[in-house]
Amino acid sequence: MNEIDALIDETIRALEQMKRAGITHVDVRPETLAIPLTIPPTPASSALVASQPIRPADTETQLQQLAAEARRCTRCAELAQCRTQVVFGTGNPRAELMFIGEAPGADEDAQGEPFVGRAGQLLTKIIQAMGFARHEVYIANVLKCRPPENRTPLPMEVQNCLPYLQRQIELIQPRAMVALGATAMRALLDIQIGITKMRGRWYYYRGIPIMPTYHPAYLLRNPAAKREVWQDMQEVVRQLGREIPRRST
Ligand code: SF4
Repeated sequence: MNEIDALIDETIRALEQMKRAGITHVDVRPETLAIPLTIPPTPASSALVASQPIRPADTETQLQQLAAEARRCTRCAELAQCRTQVVFGTGNPRAELMFIGEAPGADEDAQGEPFVGRAGQLLTKIIQAMGFARHEVYIANVLKCRPPENRTPLPMEVQNCLPYLQRQIELIQPRAMVALGATAMRALLDIQIGITKMRGRWYYYRGIPIMPTYHPAYLLRNPAAKREVWQDMQEVVRQLGREIPRRST
């Protein structure tokens, strides 16, 4: 993330917190507004760095370059050593809807594609119930490499890998996103509340609405929660200005 993006994110986050707290205006001294904003230039040496406005035709190429960079990545020594392959992301480079999970599991590590195991099959059904084909949306994880024994990602690993996800979002520019579980929300928005309290409400990441909901793996263990996920997904369909299909998961 460059410094302008970080500054904008921080400002949006602070304003959203104030809004939730009932604060409706902010007093700013004229001399504060008069201070020029000086941002140091960032080096444009990697596919992780956005240097030019993104043209649609470039998106696929830049995603491929970013994926190639991730495939060589060894920032997390343990994960780089244990992985079979990097699981970068899959789907439409110009998707209007993006799903973000936590990290690849064994099936994903073996096949190189996110959400292909049992939880992935359930996610595909959810996507179809929303009126999309799987290839029309984009699916990615916070971590691109499988943690050993599917353990929870370490904070340092999330920090190491987050720039890949941030750049994916920047390139794809989805109109809405779904965070599958708390890890994606914590990584993108630094929100430290549980998914049960978070789900069903819109949050914003760099102006893009993001809906948190339960991870499909949780639904496999708790099928009753499918009803809440379907409620959340109907909100997403509405947000995109589409008709809600009659069927449900
Ligand atoms: S998890 Fe991400 S940052 Fe860590 S080694 Fe894999 S690609 Fe690199």
